[in-house]
Amino acid sequence: EDIDITEVIDMVINKIMIKAKNKGITVSYEAPPEGVVLYADGQRMEQILTNLLENATRYTEKGNILVRVFKHSKQIKITVEDTGIGISEKDVPYLFERFYRVDKSRSRSHGGTGLGLSIVKKLVDIHDGAIEIQSKLGEGTTFILSFPMDQHK
Ligand code: ATP
Ligand code: MG
Repeated sequence: EDIDITEVIDMVINKIMIKAKNKGITVSYEAPPEGVVLYADGQRMEQILTNLLENATRYTEKGNILVRVFKHSKQIKITVEDTGIGISEKDVPYLFERFYRVDKSRSRSHGGTGLGLSIVKKLVDIHDGAIEIQSKLGEGTTFILSFPMDQHK
């Protein structure tokens, strides 16, 4: 179905806002005021964004999370950027594997099972989308989602 992805993101941000605020993290959101229509499963999109935003909140100690939605060359892009602990280059290739967690001992104190991103990857795939990671250890992480525009199945 056609959904307004900006509304889904609004909802997800509201859900994680309290947790972020309690940690001293500010969350900002940039989206076109007229909305962005995407042919997608709203519930699954919500699951994708919830996972990414929970990670951004969990793996950031103070700082900012920035979520952006925009159209770019026939694609809808959604980026989730944080100023958190970052991910080293050697770990990035494994992040979408089930149960993979960076630094097992440290991650354990953060809770979580290591399933989140493997599910995110599957849900992005079934929408013919792509997911990309840019990260620098100690500086922060950006997840970039791309979905084809004007898809009607
Ligand atoms: P779950 O999502 O199942 O509760 P999880 O968050 O540990 O557990 P994933 O979401 O799959 O699992 O993430 C895998 C690992 O990638 C995490 O354990 C963490 O080490 C790293 N990671 C994910 N997102 C970020 C981020 N925004 N910043 C830094 N590290 C991250
Ligand atoms: Mg997670």
